[in-house]
Amino acid sequence: MDNRDENKPITVCFVGNPNCGKTTLFNAFTGSKLKVANWPGVTVERVEGETVYKGRRIHVVDTPGIYSLTSYTIEELVTRRCIEEDGVDVIINVVDASSLERNLYLTLQLLELKKPVILALNMMDIVEKRGDVIDTRKLSSVLGVPVVETSALKGKGTKELMETAKKAAGSAAKPAVHAFSDVIENAMGQITELIKDVTEEDQRRWFAVKLFERDEKVLARFRFGQDVRDKLESIIAAVEEELDDDAESIITDARYQYITEVVKSCVKKKKVGMTVSD
Ligand code: GDP
Ligand code: MG
Repeated sequence: MDNRDENKPITVCFVGNPNCGKTTLFNAFTGSKLKVANWPGVTVERVEGETVYKGRRIHVVDTPGIYSLTSYTIEELVTRRCIEEDGVDVIINVVDASSLERNLYLTLQLLELKKPVILALNMMDIVEKRGDVIDTRKLSSVLGVPVVETSALKGKGTKELMETAKKAAGSAAKPAVHAFSDVIENAMGQITELIKDVTEEDQRRWFAVKLFERDEKVLARFRFGQDVRDKLESIIAAVEEELDDDAESIITDARYQYITEVVKSCVKKKKVGMTVSD
């Protein structure tokens, strides 16, 4: 998608876990100029607004809070549909920095979508109060996306976030995708081969992971014939057999393992038991 046209509004979408500060940040972005409606066909509220930053119109969409990009809940479906179909230029992944580990689980899935993602490390005031330190530069380099520290409640970091969104919309940079273990990657390669002719390159990683997880919605949209379905099933079953677990858990565990490493390398927690004397 080419969004270097300076006259075109940028559409940014706030995505994150419940209570990470999406709506607060949304309000800080847009003031009170928002439009509330329901998402088509469902009773989940859709909130949109607009702001102008340095002459560039930024159209902002708030999404319902989600923990994962599966399709088990209506909130997840609505958010997925918004990201996939509604012309979103930049995903602003709002993250509660005071519970980074839990929040990054969704982040990893968003990175697979190969759309520009910005991490808004929100609630930084809480992190600072606790005495923890997050190496945001390192986090940004490990995840391959810009990271902006914010404290939405205090209106801190919103300008920088707008600046970063404006830049991201005009850049062709794509997030880096984390590689799973060889056994899983081997299966991903085979699944990618199965869908090569019916997908665009940027979508393949996301679809391959979802098909491996036996995601019903994604499976349904491909309308595979029985032979392809059988092939897919045998690829998945072989990994399940080898790793002695079900496919969805295999992916979940792999993600958490990676997140543990990321957090270990980027977060310095204040030592418990140490008292601050003043
Ligand atoms: P949402 O569910 O992601 O839309 O989260 P909300 O915007 O409703 O925020 C959840 C709660 O966190 C509210 O009580 C906010 O006032 C609070 N909150 C949001 N951002 C911050 C922040 O940066 N720092 C602190 N301390 N609280 C925040
Ligand atoms: Mg909200």
